[in-house]
Formats: sequence, C-alpha cells, structure tokens
Amino acid sequence: MEECVFCKIVDGKIPSAKVYEDSKVISFLDILPANKGHCLVVPKKHAQNLLDMGEDDLIATMKAAKKVARALSLSFGNGSFNIVMNNGKEAGQVVNHAHIHLIPRFQKDRLRIKWSHLKYEENEMKEYAEKVKKFI
Ligand code: AMP
Ligand code: ZN
Repeated sequence: MEECVFCKIVDGKIPSAKVYEDSKVISFLDILPANKGHCLVVPKKHAQNLLDMGEDDLIATMKAAKKVARALSLSFGNGSFNIVMNNGKEAGQVVNHAHIHLIPRFQKDRLRIKWSHLKYEENEMKEYAEKVKKFI
C-alpha cells in the first residue's frame, strides 16, 4: 500500500497529531477539520472501506472510536459529536483506507450534516425492505 496516506501515517512515514494508538487502531486529528478537534479513527490494517474490514478490526475500531469520543467530550467538547464514515466515491470517500470521522459539535458551529427528506410512494417502502432483506 505504498501510496496510501493513512498506511504511511500508521507506519510513521508521515507525521500526524496522534491522540490514541493500540495494536489494531490509530487515531489522529484530521488535517482539515470540520470543527477543531475533529479526529479520524483508523484501523492499522489497510481496508478500502467498512465492507472490506475484518470483524476484529471493526470491533477494535468502534471501541477506539468510543474511547476517543469520550476523551473529546471531556477535554473541550460539550458531549455532542457526529460519527461519520464515508464509504465509496459517491459517499464522499477521498482516502481509500477505511476511517471513522469523529466531529465534536458546538452550540453555534456552522457545520450542517442534516439532509433533506424524501417520501416513499405507496408500497415502495415494503419493496425496498424486501430487496435488502434478500441479501442479509
Ligand atoms: P474522507 O472524505 O472520508 O475520505 O476523508 C478523508 C479525510 O482525511 C479528510 O477529512 C482529510 O482532511 C483527511 N486527511 C487527509 N490526509 C490527512 C493527513 N495527512 N493527516 C490527517 N488527515 C488527513
Ligand atoms: Zn492504507
């Protein structure tokens, strides 16, 4: 994974503002934060996205995300934060090494994560649920 920027951070080849590390996970500040304190939680083993991650790395990454979110809230946040994971180009993923964003939220910040809502046609909701269920 010579070109992967997060693999390079994991290997210590490029610097990061690290806040947490264990045998499977690393967490550091996002270099272009949505709010100051915005952290990324990254499995050390390269995986493209959520679907590519092994169960053990997934569990370790989510556990680390909770730890870092708690620390963010205690250090300077007020207990509100968004967890975001972009998977795939259309979802806005730019770095193709799976990562979770932890974004601290503040009363008057200018960040907007809320989306506008669509409506289902009659029976459409049931059809969508049935389609998904077939692949579970
Ligand atoms: P995504 O759009 O979910 O792929 O997000 C990738 C994130 O990685 C962006 O928010 C970038 O600001 C962040 N990023 C890219 N390179 C670095 C780096 N060297 N150190 C810290 N964060 C980075
Ligand atoms: Zn990587």
